[in-house]
Amino acid sequence: MRRIAAVLACLTLLCAVLLQPATAAAEPAYYSLRLPDGLSVATLLNEGYDISHAHSSRPVLVATPDEVRGLRDRGVVLGKIGAVYQPVLRDAAADGTTYYGGYHTAVGHEQHNAEVAAAHPELVRLYDIGDSWKKAKGQGGHDIQALCISKLVAGGCALDSTGKKPKFVLHAQIHARELVTGELAYRWIDLLTSSYGKDPELTALLDTRELWVVPMANPDGVDVVASSPSRPVMQRKNVNDTAGACPASTAGVDLNRNSGFQWDADQGGPCDETYPGARAESEPETLAIQGLLDKIFRDTKGDVSSPALPGTTGVFLTLHSFGNDILAPYGYTNTPAPDQAKLVALGKKMGDFTEYPVSTGDGGVGYFAPGATDDWLYGTRGVPSYTFEVGPDSGSCAGFFPAYACLDSTFWPKNKDAFVYAAQAAAAPYGELPTRR
Ligand SMILES: [Zn+2]
Repeated sequence: MRRIAAVLACLTLLCAVLLQPATAAAEPAYYSLRLPDGLSVATLLNEGYDISHAHSSRPVLVATPDEVRGLRDRGVVLGKIGAVYQPVLRDAAADGTTYYGGYHTAVGHEQHNAEVAAAHPELVRLYDIGDSWKKAKGQGGHDIQALCISKLVAGGCALDSTGKKPKFVLHAQIHARELVTGELAYRWIDLLTSSYGKDPELTALLDTRELWVVPMANPDGVDVVASSPSRPVMQRKNVNDTAGACPASTAGVDLNRNSGFQWDADQGGPCDETYPGARAESEPETLAIQGLLDKIFRDTKGDVSSPALPGTTGVFLTLHSFGNDILAPYGYTNTPAPDQAKLVALGKKMGDFTEYPVSTGDGGVGYFAPGATDDWLYGTRGVPSYTFEVGPDSGSCAGFFPAYACLDSTFWPKNKDAFVYAAQAAAAPYGELPTRR
């Protein structure tokens, strides 16, 4: 017995050693941070530090050991939260559709979109809404794809605003490294297409709503992330590298700072994670999503300080990770949006399902997001628009690269009912909100 135990212990140790990265000592990790007087999160972001879910009251830094030493020398108190990478026993699928234990590659998403459209012609319209940066340059790349899922009726799911059914749009993986977001969209597509005629509530939803999904808004970025299947690359932005040479995985334009609403050149240089691009709407991915939303939603809002018309329909969610937050407009300023009370009220209803608190503006941490997708849609069209920073922000399912099993244990159960609720609320988002299911 003792010998068997020793062998097992050895095997366990061997596994642990094999699963350890060869360069563990230089690996980035997540840290909490407490700043000395005179140093702000905004300053560190401008210096190029990678601080995620900075809207939260608990900003988290991703840093290498060298960066940690430099910050500690400046008086920053850092607490290690955890490793960036989780061990995976199964990395890439042989057919190239998944990586890192089950997450879908760009090809995996595209194959899935084509399959559900072919299998459910009475429920699904699949659209090519524009090109990725690489495709626009003739360097390979991808189409940006959108699905409209609904019990199709004449004139329904068209690329215009004449459809009778209110629309809910779920938008994911605009930040490529936020792996969980694309998987939530993937599961939402499967839930909707597999439930028609079986689940009464979801059948009613498909009968009365158009459920639009952009499962992967930044496919070139996803290619970079998935290029290292067992240790995904930290690529957040698209892959437009024309603004200058940058260290690995730091080139590109932040597509969530590139919209045509309140775009701000002062969000960082070409190698910073929040580089907004050379000008507003410079990127083809931005034009693709704005083009879709512009077509399918009526404009019910005037200038930046005008409220939306009370009869506005539709709800838009853009998924990000990681945190535990629902962000409501505006995100570029602490000046309240004209519909702020109603936007927050709907946000809180969704938060009843996710247990994420709702914040607006800088969330109290001095960090704004000018040029973001959600501000653009609300600010220019009046449609209630939200960012979900899907959590958790600590524990074994935290981080950009949680184990794939966290989808089943945490992310999907926490978010799917909020998606259903958002779709239900799309009929009258500024009116009487649906009662909780
Ligand atoms: Zn993000």
